[in-house]
Amino acid sequence: MAYVYDTNNIFARILRGEIPNNTVLETEHTLVFRDIAPKAPVHVLAIPKGPYVTYDHFCAEASDAEIVDFTRACAKVCDMLGIAAKDGGKGFRAITNSGENGVQEVPHFHLHILGGRSLGRMLD
Ligand code: 5GP
Repeated sequence: MAYVYDTNNIFARILRGEIPNNTVLETEHTLVFRDIAPKAPVHVLAIPKGPYVTYDHFCAEASDAEIVDFTRACAKVCDMLGIAAKDGGKGFRAITNSGENGVQEVPHFHLHILGGRSLGRMLD
């Protein structure tokens, strides 16, 4: 039992339709929706539909189909929202907080995708 998934976390409830969300893109294995407290003009959360707690959990145990679906959905959503780095676009930041030291708030793996302004340097 390396990872313990809480089926009542808020994103699980969003996936079950118990809590409304502002969906940007839904695919077979992935949901992308607007963050409720955006930190940038564009701030969306990409989540797999499967019960993965953290990024490392998703990377280790998701199927190839889930991983491909998730990564392609992220690329598509960047394109849809006009923040992709391709074609001279201004780009974005994608981050994920995992576990206690990552200060993860919601225990369902999610990728924050932020853009629409310069986000400053993170790792100075
Ligand atoms: P974490 O700190 O776990 O990386 O980020 C959790 C994110 O989920 C935060 O940016 C927070 O604003 C967002 N969030 C928390 N509850 C909700 C909710 O009910 N709906 C949406 N759309 N976002 C949420």
